[in-house]
Amino acid sequence: MTTSPSAPTLPPLPDEAFRRVLCVVAHPDDIEYGTSAAVAVWTSSGIEVAYLLLTRGEAGIDRIDPEQTAELRTAEQVSAARLVGVDQVDFLDHPDGMLEYSLALRRDIARAIRRYRPDAVLLGSWEIEFVAGLNQADHRVAGLAGLDAVRDAANRWVFRDLLDAEGLEPHSVRWIPVSGDPHPTHGIDVTGEPLDRGIASLEAHADYLAALDWHPPVRAMLTAVTAAQGPALGVSNAVLLRAIDLQAPPSFAMEDPPTE
Ligand SMILES: [Zn+2]
Repeated sequence: MTTSPSAPTLPPLPDEAFRRVLCVVAHPDDIEYGTSAAVAVWTSSGIEVAYLLLTRGEAGIDRIDPEQTAELRTAEQVSAARLVGVDQVDFLDHPDGMLEYSLALRRDIARAIRRYRPDAVLLGSWEIEFVAGLNQADHRVAGLAGLDAVRDAANRWVFRDLLDAEGLEPHSVRWIPVSGDPHPTHGIDVTGEPLDRGIASLEAHADYLAALDWHPPVRAMLTAVTAAQGPALGVSNAVLLRAIDLQAPPSFAMEDPPTE
């Protein structure tokens, strides 16, 4: 028997997997390249979502002063979030373009995790090469620091001042959905309204996008990107993620024991 080329190869993310998601990214607009359409699906079904931006993207527009760009991009990010049902958007003010992997960054993210207490922390890929080609330095740092901060948030003996001085109890996250990962494990069907809302959320970065001479039209681009990912899920338009379940038993524990 042969498999039809249109047969889905990935499962949908289980609806009941998580109820509260914190998305941690480097820059305003990072969530809007596809992920925000999935966020629209989640918020429509009652899942709570908040965004944590590590920078304000102030180094993003060549001909505008960084202070002015920071203001403009902060406002655009808040508007973009509202369009997909997200009201909580926090900014950490680490430097755009010079984001450093550091204990200070991990502590800041761990603090946000302990405050928001999500069951999923969504990150961007930390790989050098991801689905869109070469990954940018800030994106790699944000992904890796976020990954490590999930562990930090759960350990009361790491960054002890978070508990001792700020009263933030340890918190264990179960899921790490990773966007842009070259090896996705699950998909979210964003066909129709969620995709439209995702497109609107990227279009909310209007002044930023207008400053980029090379940027393709938003609707055509996001439609094509999600259409390319649709067949893996057997739908028209999908967002694919690598969903890491921190409570899953290690894969070696699932293998059959060797026979004599
Ligand atoms: Zn970015």
